[in-house]
Amino acid sequence: MRPRDLSDHVPYEAGRGIEEVARELGRDPGEFVKLASNENPHGPSPAATVAIREAASTVGSYPKAAHADLREAVADRWGVADGQVWLANGADGAIDYLHRAALDPGERILVPDPGFAYYGMSARFHHGEVDSYPLSREDGFEQTADRLLESYDGQRVVYVTSPHNPTGTTMALEEIGRIAAGTDDRTLVVVDEAYGEFADRGSALELIEGPDAREDVAVLRTFSKAYGLAGVRLGYALVPEAWADAYTRVNTPFAASEVACRAGLAALDDDEHVERTVETVEKARGYVREHAEAGVWPSEGNFVLVDVGDASAVTAELQERGIIVRDCTSFGLPGCIRITCGTRTETERAVETLNAVLGDGIGEPGPGPAADRPEVSDA
Ligand SMILES: *Cc1c(COP(=O)(O)O)cnc(C)c1O
Repeated sequence: MRPRDLSDHVPYEAGRGIEEVARELGRDPGEFVKLASNENPHGPSPAATVAIREAASTVGSYPKAAHADLREAVADRWGVADGQVWLANGADGAIDYLHRAALDPGERILVPDPGFAYYGMSARFHHGEVDSYPLSREDGFEQTADRLLESYDGQRVVYVTSPHNPTGTTMALEEIGRIAAGTDDRTLVVVDEAYGEFADRGSALELIEGPDAREDVAVLRTFSKAYGLAGVRLGYALVPEAWADAYTRVNTPFAASEVACRAGLAALDDDEHVERTVETVEKARGYVREHAEAGVWPSEGNFVLVDVGDASAVTAELQERGIIVRDCTSFGLPGCIRITCGTRTETERAVETLNAVLGDGIGEPGPGPAADRPEVSDA
């Protein structure tokens, strides 16, 4: 007796943790800075920490009230009906729900390449198939409707990641609207805004609101990044009203836990923490772009992509010197590393160490964004 044929399924490669790396190298965890998983440099909102402690005494019950309360609070925040908020176990869980609700066996999804691995993994779990559209380095990983539509061939779900992981580029709302208009009525356009708080753009939610509201766009958001709650696993999809009823049919019962919902409620009220986080991120992006002795792409996420020539050699050497970053080889970018925006101290140490590694002849710093493109300034 064996599992079904999983040869098309590849394990998710997460950014490496401090404990894991320290154990492997036989070193003290305190020597390391982790800038590999786009986590919040300030950790969780202090209000969420208190809520998590207080929730300890209520975890004997299933999370019914907390789930309803959080759904309402998120709906209020966005000005949508409660039913349009599909809470899930991380935005990853929301991706699963959208696939459960949309995909019949053998149907296809269209994802950016390079891009976030879980879209394809989830589609395969749900017996779907995966096609991709290219974002090209020569064009600065620019995201346009044309680029996606050139590869579009009736897929049931198409993904736009804005801001995009790992390149940091965004897609203009008009372009997303063009994609929705240019694809079949049966095609759902999912706009992944996991890094939305760090971008200088409005949410694609606008497209499913108001008198001209579309019924073929959904938006993903998460508490993992700007809210600093990656460990509790909480995210959601915002869906058109016509999709609201499907939630209870596809929702894994109680997938958003009592602890997660209580933490989410507290974090949602703590605007100060999000503002402080965004400020730190903007400063860090600017710092890396200014001081790294390698090309750095402009980014609207809480990370930057750096052109180091040989990502695996540079990642390994940085790790040896105490800085854990993301080798983008698994994204299909073997010349690039992705550095998460840290605190000022962490970011300075990361850049100083990177420059030292490059200076020692490891890797080969490249120009990053093509030289003939105008410089986009980082706020
Ligand atoms: C981090 C991330 C997510 C979701 O993260 P969760 O922790 O599951 O909420 C979704 N999309 C992209 C592009 C991400 O980088």
